[in-house]
Amino acid sequence: MTDRRLKQMISVIGVVAPLIGTIFAIWLLWQRLVNWNDIAILAGMYFFTAIGITIGYHRMLTHRGFETHPAVRVFFLMLGSMAVEGPALDWASIHIKHHANTDTEDDPHSPLDGFFHAHIGWFISGFIAEPEIYGKWLLKDPIVMFMSKTFFVWGALGFVIPYLLGGWTGVLWGGLVRMFLTHHVTWSVNSICHIFGARMFDTPDRSKNNWLVGLLAFGEGWHNNHHAFPRSAFHGLRWWQFDLSAYIIRGLEQLGLIWNVWRIPTERLRARSSISGRSSDYRYESEAAQKGTLRATYRQHSDRRG
Ligand SMILES: [Zn+2]
Ligand SMILES: [Zn+2]
Repeated sequence: MTDRRLKQMISVIGVVAPLIGTIFAIWLLWQRLVNWNDIAILAGMYFFTAIGITIGYHRMLTHRGFETHPAVRVFFLMLGSMAVEGPALDWASIHIKHHANTDTEDDPHSPLDGFFHAHIGWFISGFIAEPEIYGKWLLKDPIVMFMSKTFFVWGALGFVIPYLLGGWTGVLWGGLVRMFLTHHVTWSVNSICHIFGARMFDTPDRSKNNWLVGLLAFGEGWHNNHHAFPRSAFHGLRWWQFDLSAYIIRGLEQLGLIWNVWRIPTERLRARSSISGRSSDYRYESEAAQKGTLRATYRQHSDRRG
C-alpha cells in the first residue's frame, strides 16, 4: 500500500469513527443515559485540544505570533496533536500553502471546488503536505520533528485521559464526540469562513469573518482579519469580536510564559482598512520568496483573478 493510500485510509477512519461515536452518543442522550461527568470530560477535552490547534498549531507554530519556552511549545504541540488533525509538520505546511494560494486551485482546501471539498473532501482524499516547499524552517526544528514523529502517541493520549477520568463512556464523549466537534469546527474555518460572513478588509481572497465560527473555534472565525494580518496573535480586532485564544495568549504573556507577542502596528491597521492590499506580511512568504517559487505562484494567481 502506498503512503498516500495509507494516509487516506487513516483519514477516512478518523472521520467516520467520531461520526459513529457521536450518533451513538446522541442516542444515549435521547435515552437519558448520560451523566454530568461525561459532559464535563467532553468540555474539558474540547477546550484543551481546541487551544492546542488555535494557539499551538496555528498562531504559535504556523504564524509565529509569539515566542515561548521549549516546554510550553511541547505542551501546546501535544495538545494540538491530541486533536488528531494530523502531525504538526503536516498541519502547518498545509496551512501555509493555504495562505500562499488562498482560494485558487493550488489552495489545498479551495472553496472553488465546492463546500464539501473545502470542508472535508480535501482531508479524506489523501492530502499531501509539502514541508520541503511550505515549511522548510519546520524541518529544522527538533521539537516539531519529534512531536510530528510521535503524533500517534499524543493522539492516543487524547483517548487514554478520558478513559482514566470516566471509563468507556468518558472515551465516547471526551474522545470520539470531542474529536468530531473539534474536527468540524476547525474545518468550518476552511469552508464556512471562505464562503459565508462579512469582510472588514479588502484582501485578495474570499476570506470572511463569521461570528458563530469565531465563538466555537475560540476566535479563529475572524478569518478575514486573519488573512489581512496572518501573523497577528489576535484575530478578533474589535472589542465585540470574541477571541478566546487571544485572551489566553494575553494571560500567558502577563504571566511571563510567552513573549514577543506580535501585534498589528496601529498605522498598518489603519492603512490596511482603506486599501485593496496584497498580503505581503508573511514572514514565511518572504523566506520562500528567496527561492522565488512561492511568491511567483502567489502573484500569478492574484493577477489571474484581476
Ligand atoms: Zn483561510
Ligand atoms: Zn492562518
